[in-house]
Amino acid sequence: MNTLPPPELSLVIPCYNEGEMLPLLRDRLVTSLGAMGVTWEVILINDGSRDNTFAQLAAMHAAEPRFKVLSFSRNFGHQTAVFAGLFHATGNFVAVMDADLQDPPEFVATCIEKLKTGYDVVYAVRRQRKENIFKRTCYAAFYRLLKSIAEVEIPLDSGDFCVMRQCVVTVLRGMPERDVFVRGLRAWSGFRQIGIEYERAARAAGETKYPFRKLVKLAMDGVFAFSPLPLRVATYVGFGSLLLSVGAAVFVILWKTLGFRLFGHYPSEVPGWTSMICLILFLSGMQFLILGVMGEFISRIYNEVKQRPRWIIQTALGLTANQVPPLPPAGGPLP
Ligand code: UDP
Ligand code: MG
Repeated sequence: MNTLPPPELSLVIPCYNEGEMLPLLRDRLVTSLGAMGVTWEVILINDGSRDNTFAQLAAMHAAEPRFKVLSFSRNFGHQTAVFAGLFHATGNFVAVMDADLQDPPEFVATCIEKLKTGYDVVYAVRRQRKENIFKRTCYAAFYRLLKSIAEVEIPLDSGDFCVMRQCVVTVLRGMPERDVFVRGLRAWSGFRQIGIEYERAARAAGETKYPFRKLVKLAMDGVFAFSPLPLRVATYVGFGSLLLSVGAAVFVILWKTLGFRLFGHYPSEVPGWTSMICLILFLSGMQFLILGVMGEFISRIYNEVKQRPRWIIQTALGLTANQVPPLPPAGGPLP
């Protein structure tokens, strides 16, 4: 057991194939944390990287034990990695940031100053993204959609980059869900929260570890975990088509009894094939869509019910892997 007093600041950083980034990250962290004049620890989570990330993290820990490492047995995803880091963060202030230096570590000092003026969470709001226009548009649309349909106020254009007090982290640790959406849970927790704008840099090295597929999964986790609207769509559409069909029935009866021309035709002349096909296609499309929505919820419920461990720590350096029973040593060196 670690008997040292907890540090003032814990920094949680998930890393997936960040071999190229780590030397830059280490130097920048040492400089910026040194300048902050606080006691600190950095918890780096190796999320099943396939490059030399783990070897580099182990070397960082050997040279500076305040760099602590959790290494997963496989890739569990960015959000899960952040959550695992939060489980081990003991600092009075806990910061979450990415490994690619898009989030400037110096900004953590600004956030801590703001926290001290009477806040529990200070999150960073991106002023301008440096990604391509397609990604920027998708992000902007997603955050606005989520804000309009979510049951809690999830701030616009803010990611996971934030500094929280330990009391908020304790609340987050108590949340047992599997498909975590950290920024949503953070907003959900309440307390006194505030955003500060910052300039988001471009990735300092390597390429994005968030392909479109993972972004879609993240967006769906956000929507399905924080809004019941997708389920209600079924009810709304059902009502809508019911009203539409009643209106259509009334119209057809009037048309037949009054016998007026519509688009130059009397009711008796209309074969009605095209409209029939359109209607069938539309309604069956709707049914599939709604079944898909139900499927999303059911798969999420199933995921929660299985109660599998949320992550598996294969190696911990400078930390006790206390959240899961320790695994027997692996057959060989980590990839
Ligand atoms: N990451 C991770 N697991 C993953 C994907 C990403 O731990 O499966 C980490 C990655 O190493 C980085 C952070 O999550 O520290 C954000 O990823 P990235 O910068 O590639 O995302 P982007 O900024 O392009 O959206
Ligand atoms: Mg990034």
